[in-house]
Formats: sequence, C-alpha cells, structure tokens
Amino acid sequence: QTIAGAISTGTHGTGARLGGLASQVVGVRLVTAQGDVVEASPDERPELFEVARLGLGSVGLLAAVTLHVVPAFHLRAVEEPWSLDAVLERLTGADGLVDANDHFEFYWFPHTRRAFTKRNNRVPDDDLEPLRPVRAWVDDELLSNAVFAATNRLTAAARRLTPQVNAFAARALSARTYTAASYEVFTSPRRVRFREMEYAIPRDAVSPALAEIERWLASTGELVPFPVEVRFAAPDDVWLSTGYQRESAYVAVHQYIGLPYVRYLRAVERIMAGFDGRPHWGKLHWLDADRLAQLYPRFADVQRVRATADPTGVFTNDYVDRVLGPVR
Ligand SMILES: Cc1cc2nc3c(=O)[nH]c(=O)nc-3n(C[C@H](O)[C@H](O)[C@H](O)COP(=O)(O)OP(=O)(O)OC[C@H]3O[C@@H](n4cnc5c(N)ncnc54)[C@H](O)[C@@H]3O)c2cc1C
Repeated sequence: QTIAGAISTGTHGTGARLGGLASQVVGVRLVTAQGDVVEASPDERPELFEVARLGLGSVGLLAAVTLHVVPAFHLRAVEEPWSLDAVLERLTGADGLVDANDHFEFYWFPHTRRAFTKRNNRVPDDDLEPLRPVRAWVDDELLSNAVFAATNRLTAAARRLTPQVNAFAARALSARTYTAASYEVFTSPRRVRFREMEYAIPRDAVSPALAEIERWLASTGELVPFPVEVRFAAPDDVWLSTGYQRESAYVAVHQYIGLPYVRYLRAVERIMAGFDGRPHWGKLHWLDADRLAQLYPRFADVQRVRATADPTGVFTNDYVDRVLGPVR
C-alpha cells in the first residue's frame, strides 16, 4: 500500500474526533493528463485539489503529497471481550465509548452476542507498560493468525460448526492492557485472506444496522466465520469522503477467501442502502455513479472538475467509469 493509494481511496482509521487520511492532506503535486506538473491546495486550484486528494487518481497522478502530521505518540491499548449488548448500550453519549476514547472500535462475532473491543488513548511518553513478547506472540500471531486460519479452514469444511467456532473465537481473545508507540498499536499482522466490503453510515445507525444484519443471517442460514468490524470517524469536507459532513460509523463485513461471499455482501449492501451508506472506494461494492451521486452532495462538481482535468480519459478504467461515470 502507498500513501497515494490510501488517500485516493478514502482510507480511514477509527476515532470520533479524527477524519480519514485525505482530510489530513494540505497540498499535492500532480502530473496532469496533459503531462504538466502542477501544485494544488486549498489556496491554489482548490477544486482540483478536492478531487486530487480523494478521487481514485481520476484527475492526475500524485507525485508528492503534503500531510498534516503530529509528533510521534504513545497509546494505552485496552482490549476486552464484551457482550454486544453492553457495547451498543454504552456506544454513544458524552461519556460513551466512541466519544470518551481517542480511538474506539469493536468486532462483533456473527451468530453470537459477543464482541471484542479496542480502546486506544494517548498517554505521556514516559508512561510505558509494554506487552510481554510471549503474550504479544500468543495473541497476535497464534490466536489472531494461526488459530484463526485453522478455525476458518474448519468452518469452510464444516459450515454448520460456524456459530460454535465463533463463540469459541470470541472467548479465546482475552483482555489485555499495554502501552506502546502508536504504530505498534495500530498495526497487526493479518495472514488469513478474506474478501471485504465496508460501508460508512451515520453513527446513530450502528445498532439498527447490526440488528438487520443479524436478522438476515438468522433468516437465511448464511454462515459467516469472520467478525464484523465497526469503527468511527469525524465528519470532514472532502468532496468524495465517505465521512463527508457526517459523523460516521464504518461497518466492515468480511468473508473467508475460500467461501462464497456475494450473497452475504450484497445483502449487507441492501441493508446499508437503508441508512444512506457510502461504500469504501477501495473495497468490494456494487454501486454505480447514479447511486453514488445521490450519496455525495458535491458529486456533480467532481464530474465537472474531472471533465476539465482529463477530457479524454487518460486516467480512467472500468471501475472509475462505473463509480464516477464516463468522462464527458
Ligand atoms: C492489509 C490492508 C489493510 C487495510 N486497512 C484499511 C483500513 O484500516 N482502513 C481503510 O479505510 N482501508 C483499509 N484498507 C484499504 C485501503 O484503503 C486500500 O486498499 C489501499 O490503501 C489502497 O492503496 P494502494 O497503494 O494499494 O493503492 P492501489 O490499490 O494501487 O490504488 C488505489 C487507488 O488509488 C489510485 N492511486 C494509487 N496511486 C496513485 C497515485 N500516485 N496518484 C494518483 N492515484 C493513485 C489508483 O489509481 C486507485 O484508484 C486496507 C487494505 C489492505 C490491503
């Protein structure tokens, strides 16, 4: 992954007071369709800047990006298994999990009422309490990768065991608290391959959206061994940001690489449509430009800027044509 690819697809993390990566871009250097090298920022070619910082590379090639950054920092990570009901009850409000933590996310294990929560908060640099290497290896390599790979292979071979395996997995990850550099807390090895779709919905819609997914799974008998990940982000003003002018929750659904995924992901997509969900630009989804135009108030402006910047479609491809419309 590259910085340019990450910002061009609207990549985000989790944190109610934090926007996605594209919202941290303060300037770009772009190679245009005509071969010129131009600078764009909020003060210089501001409309081009909007689509250059999040636009799937549709208005030019990012040669350099200036990002707003902060000094390196440490986080206290508190990871705990909770009941899903407890998470949803304490999610919102001034002292709720989302607002009271710098970074909060949770994973819901389908076919169970169990969740795994992660709360990460900034601490002074001298307040260190690192994880013992053996514990880190057991959690991050053995349980999250080796055992998770084995349970996915097991459920792929014996689908009906999925609910029991998920219940086991939800309990296997035990509580832990540690302090480390942010880049150590935020990153984790992921060796089990999967397919993923992620939708941004209004923050208040998390509970009803998960309830609808749960109802659909129960009514169809679809079995999903992968947890559903839920994250949060602040509203921003980036024209094509999934968080555009909306306090957002991100609901990501996954299916193990060896299993059929289309029926599940399409069902979740239909559910997300009911909450005006906006799909992640860099993950699976089936929306087209007509539908996306209804979800992004500045969509027509994006098309206008693109038509001027790249009138012959130098930077387009099938996916970009589908989601942003053909160049006109
Ligand atoms: C392991 C993994 C973890 C992930 N975690 C997250 C996550 O936590 N949060 C999240 O939101 N997403 C996440 N994603 C998805 C992520 O947003 C994108 O898949 C990824 O960042 C795209 O970057 P890339 O360098 O692979 O870009 P590519 O797939 O190569 O390109 C993506 C888009 O960017 C454009 N692009 C690439 N380079 C340039 C350039 N120089 N100039 C102009 N346009 C360019 C391409 O044309 C394309 O449209 C994850 C993906 C992976 C594989």
